[in-house]
Amino acid sequence: MAVGTEDLTAWLRRFAESVHEQRDRLTALDAAIGDADHGANMDRGMTAVVATLDESPPADAAALLKKTGATLVSKVGGASGPLYGTLFLRMAGAAGDGDLDDAAFARALRAGLDGVVARGRAEPGDKTMVDALGPACDALDAAVEAGKPLADALAAAADAAAQGRDATVPMVARKGRASYLGERSAGHQDPGATSTALLVEAAAATLGR
Ligand code: ADP
Ligand code: MG
Ligand code: MG
Repeated sequence: MAVGTEDLTAWLRRFAESVHEQRDRLTALDAAIGDADHGANMDRGMTAVVATLDESPPADAAALLKKTGATLVSKVGGASGPLYGTLFLRMAGAAGDGDLDDAAFARALRAGLDGVVARGRAEPGDKTMVDALGPACDALDAAVEAGKPLADALAAAADAAAQGRDATVPMVARKGRASYLGERSAGHQDPGATSTALLVEAAAATLGR
């Protein structure tokens, strides 16, 4: 089951909806260990993405992912704009021509993760969005390689992302604003890992079906 522009649009639309619904929650998490803007940042960025895609639907998957990344970079400041922007720009670079088959989608998402790591230099355990996206990519790769249909593979990835998000609670932040708190960052869920879990959940709800 290939992933094309309509599927990707449905994914991003769903992500925008859940970010909007969870805006206050994301902001409250960021208020505890950051500067209380993650909900507003992501909502502003994804609202702009949906508006751009509605206004001029991109011709292919790579163009759509590129447009999404560029919009996030330009509309969202702080750490999450460049990081989420890089995620989608790297996905675009890995997408190739036309629709993505299951393995190509998994490869693109991992290219996105690699881009986030290259840009933000976060390692697993640093209490960032990498702690949700890394396990999601691992689960997605394993399931796709095992021949699972994309919908099932993404459901496994969403579970892994949620577990990764929950695992950020006891971590001490070593990257981003939360790292300024040192040990006091422990005991709080990372906002970026929380929004990333929403991103993977949105993929599971919209792709491969
Ligand atoms: P800011 O911290 O600039 O206000 P946001 O609040 O929108 O930006 O995003 C904060 C989130 O960004 C954090 O919860 C974390 O998941 C993520 N983050 C911050 N720095 C990094 C980094 N170097 N690598 C990966 N993710 C990071
Ligand atoms: Mg913030
Ligand atoms: Mg900020």
